[in-house]
Amino acid sequence: VSTPLAAVLGSDHTVRCSDGTVRRTIDLDYAASAPALAAVVDRVQEVVPFSASVHRGSGHKSAVCTEAYEAARRTVHAFCGADDEDVVVFGRNTTDALNLLAHCVPGDVVVLDVEHHANLLPWRRRRVVRTEGTIAATLVRLEAVLSAKPAALLAVTGASNVTGEVLPIAELAALAHRHGARILVDGAQLVPHRRVDITAAGVDYLAFSGHKLYAPFGAGVLVGRRDWLDAADPYLAGGGATSGVSVLTDGDVDVRWHPAPARHEGGTPNLLGAVALAAACEEIARLDPVAVAAHDRAATDAVVRGLTRTGGVRVLRVWDDSDDVVGIVSFTVDGVDPVVVADALARDHAVAVRAGKFCAHPLLARLGADDGAVRVSVGLGTTAADVEAFLDALTVTCLSLRRGVAA
Ligand code: PMP
Repeated sequence: VSTPLAAVLGSDHTVRCSDGTVRRTIDLDYAASAPALAAVVDRVQEVVPFSASVHRGSGHKSAVCTEAYEAARRTVHAFCGADDEDVVVFGRNTTDALNLLAHCVPGDVVVLDVEHHANLLPWRRRRVVRTEGTIAATLVRLEAVLSAKPAALLAVTGASNVTGEVLPIAELAALAHRHGARILVDGAQLVPHRRVDITAAGVDYLAFSGHKLYAPFGAGVLVGRRDWLDAADPYLAGGGATSGVSVLTDGDVDVRWHPAPARHEGGTPNLLGAVALAAACEEIARLDPVAVAAHDRAATDAVVRGLTRTGGVRVLRVWDDSDDVVGIVSFTVDGVDPVVVADALARDHAVAVRAGKFCAHPLLARLGADDGAVRVSVGLGTTAADVEAFLDALTVTCLSLRRGVAA
């Protein structure tokens, strides 16, 4: 880990620790929400003074807002390598995007048992496939499942939010297509770390969140093929989703719905969220993807090396043959509650990590970590000093907790 790849906000926050010292906070919880990029916040601030209705007003400010919103849509479209058949629907976050697609999918959905709950619970007719010890064997099993009984959609994560392991999405897309299924990639963890070109990879749908992509909170997107989205009832019915409404003589209402994306974006849109997300896409697109991957790799390798030196720690991995990992490492500490570890790191050392089951209960069970784990996640603002400070803090924490247990 050499220098930070981009300026993030909040890296100068301080907090008073349990011993009374005031220390700089160390953010190692990028996978939950990444700190906003300074350039993204600047772009949002340019738009804030134009508080006017998107798509609905005739004044200058409204025209500016409408153009900013639609420009954000074009930016996201280009960022994902989408083609003319693809639409970008803005929503609240990845969870919302996945629920939108679940509302539109015309059949069964196949998922793996490693998914975040957001890519498991929304699907109504779902079949969960048990992962094998290698990605290669997992693909063989998936192939068997899809050939035995067709599905409309294969819904997979691009990168695990627990282990950071990256799945081969182009290979999975080809596999799904061989069996007449489409593929959705939950890009919540992948997109902040790797360029995803959905046309090149053959991905039909991609979902991700702005707040994990260095934008402030507020927006997520579903990007993908228009036909299912146009055929479904509106996900969020209301103003803006229709081109005409009339009350019939029998008291019923006749509605002509717009095609997607307007069809699913009823109500006044989240302009600032969309602008922030698109600005984040532009900033990320400016970075060298090889440098970003190398930065991830250096930081995660340093974390794993340090953890291996810390006795009684087990790093969680699903697959023996996964050769790419985004900046996420989860681990358990023998005999110690992960929440106690995370609390001590925060309280005594100003180090922010996450503990628990990361909204992926089946995966934690699959990994034999039913009591949860501690997760460290890095990103564009992480430095070698951050990783070192975490490892030193963990050593001290483990020693004092073990002493506490022994006493
Ligand atoms: N999928 C994955 C892989 C995630 O890590 C997360 C967030 N933890 C989500 C989906 C849901 O994202 P959001 O909370 O922004 O809806």
